[in-house]
Amino acid sequence: MFAEVSLPISSFQTFTYSIPENLKKSLLVGSRVKVPFGARKVSGIIVSLAKKNSFAGNLKSIIDVDDKMPVLSNELWKLVNWISHYYITPIGLAYNTVLPFSLLINHSPRQVWFVRHLAGHKTYEELSPKQNLIFEAIREASSKYIKVSRFKVISSNPILICKALEKKGLVELKKRNQDKGIEETSFKSLKKNIFFNEEQLKVINILKTAIKLGIHSPNLLHGVTGSGKTEIFIEIIKTVKKLGKCSIVLIPEISLTSQIAGRFKQVFGDEMALWHSQLSKSQRAKTWKDINDGTCKIVIGARSAIFSPMKNLGLIIVDEEHDSSYKQDSPSPRYHARDVAIMRSKIEKCTVVLSSATPSLETFYNYKLKKYNYLTLSKRYGDALYPKVRVVDLIDESKETGKYNIIISGLLQEKIEKRLIDNEQVLLIQNRRGFSPTVKCSDCGTVVMCLACKTPLTFHKYGNNFKCHICGFISFKNLENCSECFSQNFSYMGTGTQKVEELIQKTFPNARVARIDHDSSKNSSSTIKVLQEFQDGEIDILLGTQMIAKGLDFPEITLVGIINADLGLHIPDFRSSERTFQLIYQAAGRSGRGKKRGEVVIQTYDKENLVINAASKLNLKDYYNNMLTDRNTLNYPPYSWVSKIEFLGPNVKSVFSLSSRIRNKFFGIYKGLEILGPAPCFKEKVNNKYRFQIILKSLKKYDSNSEKLHSFISKNFIEHKNQITGSNKINIHIDPISMI
Ligand SMILES: [Zn+2]
Ligand SMILES: [Zn+2]
Repeated sequence: MFAEVSLPISSFQTFTYSIPENLKKSLLVGSRVKVPFGARKVSGIIVSLAKKNSFAGNLKSIIDVDDKMPVLSNELWKLVNWISHYYITPIGLAYNTVLPFSLLINHSPRQVWFVRHLAGHKTYEELSPKQNLIFEAIREASSKYIKVSRFKVISSNPILICKALEKKGLVELKKRNQDKGIEETSFKSLKKNIFFNEEQLKVINILKTAIKLGIHSPNLLHGVTGSGKTEIFIEIIKTVKKLGKCSIVLIPEISLTSQIAGRFKQVFGDEMALWHSQLSKSQRAKTWKDINDGTCKIVIGARSAIFSPMKNLGLIIVDEEHDSSYKQDSPSPRYHARDVAIMRSKIEKCTVVLSSATPSLETFYNYKLKKYNYLTLSKRYGDALYPKVRVVDLIDESKETGKYNIIISGLLQEKIEKRLIDNEQVLLIQNRRGFSPTVKCSDCGTVVMCLACKTPLTFHKYGNNFKCHICGFISFKNLENCSECFSQNFSYMGTGTQKVEELIQKTFPNARVARIDHDSSKNSSSTIKVLQEFQDGEIDILLGTQMIAKGLDFPEITLVGIINADLGLHIPDFRSSERTFQLIYQAAGRSGRGKKRGEVVIQTYDKENLVINAASKLNLKDYYNNMLTDRNTLNYPPYSWVSKIEFLGPNVKSVFSLSSRIRNKFFGIYKGLEILGPAPCFKEKVNNKYRFQIILKSLKKYDSNSEKLHSFISKNFIEHKNQITGSNKINIHIDPISMI
């Protein structure tokens, strides 16, 4: 007996091993085995078994089988094979994505420091300012233990300060397991009394019927923002549960969707597992086990939750299906969790619901082709009305006021003032983080750049540093001189969230302002804390990037302001209009979800723009019509399949010549295939690597299931891939969501 074994390496080759007598009975396709590979022993997966073998030489034999490891279910094994084929990824890597090795190791929980206030002590006059800040925060939590690492925002080494406080007898320190229950990470959701309206009942009935039939049933749930989708999900999951089946709910980012998670937790308690990147290794392993042995029948989580090892799956929900976080950009396999969900539901023969207020064009088009059932919720829940939208032309505003670079227009300022007086809440969106995206030398005009990425560094006022938003490089301002003239006079151009925050604080000194973006939310618990405070009415104005534009459901928000709606519109990417529309439409949807009617103020320099226009009128019909026409004219998805082949390397000439050499040798070109490039990527240098790309478009007219494109790429690139020498690299992106 012989086995073909795939190893978790980035090669498409599988390796043949002989099977020793004592293992013959225990090996199956999908078994995890230990094999010799070079001088090492590595873990691999059996992809096929055979009686005969044509290899003439001496074969090495399998050392052992890991029989503690459960073999993937037939269905998941099929899914692994599909991922490997569709995303052109070695099966070992695809397997490791579905069932990471790390899940099966027993990790002991990590111990971390917790601190709590010791009551009865009042003398702390001699505290340093930082000690004082931290002590006040500990005292505020009264006698509850809180994580010391929470004070990293105040001091880079908070444990030292806490130890000093402990010496003074003010606090008590304790090491505890980091792992905490879901209760601590999730959001206290408001209890709701649910009365479904007619439209909602109709949707629920259709989905319940499909679930009971137990067939593959793909559905698009197109519900306006605030239409009560979460409650519908809960209702249909109850049906799945009654049938003894399992459900997977995908949500984009766990911290921002913590409201939804909290609501599920309220209803399903311990039968539900949360699956997200913030889980520790031991939590992850335990959760995986609970799902695998059927203790947990409901999983709610980010994209990798689609691989939950559930048996007897009855339902998959992809909430906010248009969200780009469902696509894994790196490492390989570069899968899209929504598309994997569709495939998994086909394999498992279950119901799948793609849900969004702004479905992606691909999904919308699939519904038009009648591939999906279309379910619609056209009314907001309760009596909530759609918000009133006002567009402010910043060019006009500049002319009238004589001011340039307006951040808050007169109208927006007036509306914010009114909300502060009326005790209502405001959401402000500026989709760019930091303080100043571009910093120039005031003396010679040189821009402060990241040399590794050929990109301007963004100035961050918090931390007083320059950051590269591409590679993460940080340089402290007091060390930074102009690279040309050594001046230290800089001018700060452009507007990031920190600049907006500063201006808002100055303009409304009594308002309580909080900011959420990737800088403020290094971990999800701090984001959840801010959101909780916002819900409790302790924050008046919440400001942030696109992170806060989606999912939030706070009835007291009656004003949403979009500081600059045009950001992102002029990026050379065929999806930039779609993203801009979704951002504006979703952000607008946060306003007026309660009893009071909401308002939205959109600020723009491009009032005539079709996308801004359709978004400001909340006109979906115009938007889909215009966008589909555009995409059709330009042969972009959903009218074609697109792949992006990325070439990377440290030497610009070598990367370029590799890409053009491969381009010139392309074979098997077919009718309906368009080839663009090689051309430098929009971000032409990242982390000291030069980047070129070739875009392949395969028209669906000629290639209905993308098999032609796949076989073209396999033929041309898998072979070439083996020829690459030196430090150049090729990445294959199937259905990329970004072209830059
Ligand atoms: Zn200079
Ligand atoms: Zn950089």
